[in-house]
Amino acid sequence: MGKMKKEIKKVLEDAKRYLQQQESLFGDEIILPKSEEKNPQVNEEVFGVDPTWVNSKTLDELESKIKNCVKCPLGKTRTNFVFGVGNPKSEIVFIGEAPGAEEDLQGEPFVGRAGQLLNQILASVGFRRDEVYICNVLKCRPPGNRDPQPSEIEACGPYLIKQLEIIKPKLIVSLGRFPVQMLLKTNATLSSLRGQIYEWKGIKILVTYHPAAALRNQQWKRPLIEDLRKAREILYQK
Ligand code: URA
Repeated sequence: MGKMKKEIKKVLEDAKRYLQQQESLFGDEIILPKSEEKNPQVNEEVFGVDPTWVNSKTLDELESKIKNCVKCPLGKTRTNFVFGVGNPKSEIVFIGEAPGAEEDLQGEPFVGRAGQLLNQILASVGFRRDEVYICNVLKCRPPGNRDPQPSEIEACGPYLIKQLEIIKPKLIVSLGRFPVQMLLKTNATLSSLRGQIYEWKGIKILVTYHPAAALRNQQWKRPLIEDLRKAREILYQK
């Protein structure tokens, strides 16, 4: 398919998603945004979000203000909003892509098979799960564990940014490409991003394989362990 055709297809898909989302919220009465009406507070309340979330001072406050979010269609299909878990004062934050089936059921990130592998690796390099912070780019499960869509990342990403602003870690570990791509606004591949340290708002970012990918491709397990060992060194170097 030509580049132009692909772009048109993407615009049409985005428009379709937007209209489906509006329809699921408002029935078949189509609500079109009026450019002169710039009141984000009204919009956020319509989507189940307390608009004062942006001023949250703690993770608990933030969670309570956004946990009923239906800004994207995943809000309608989730069982639980999966905010994040761990030490709110952690110097290191591990970020995955989105909750899977088990996480959706339990309301906690990384509790399924990928989570068990992550726990084992964390322990093997000297981190306790409860002393670090773990969350995802998306807070709701994409059906069938498909990749997050750009519109979902756009809707949910600001919540992750607020979490990071509250925690103020020294180091972010991007498990897979989605967190680093979102934070650095890049489409670069995981293999091109891995192996260097990046910086976002003064916080270092280390990029590594997603534990689910390491379960599928055993040869990535060793590099994942080495990367997390490196994360520990970065954290504790003087
Ligand atoms: N995969 C993720 O990216 N996050 C989870 O919480 C679980 C699996």
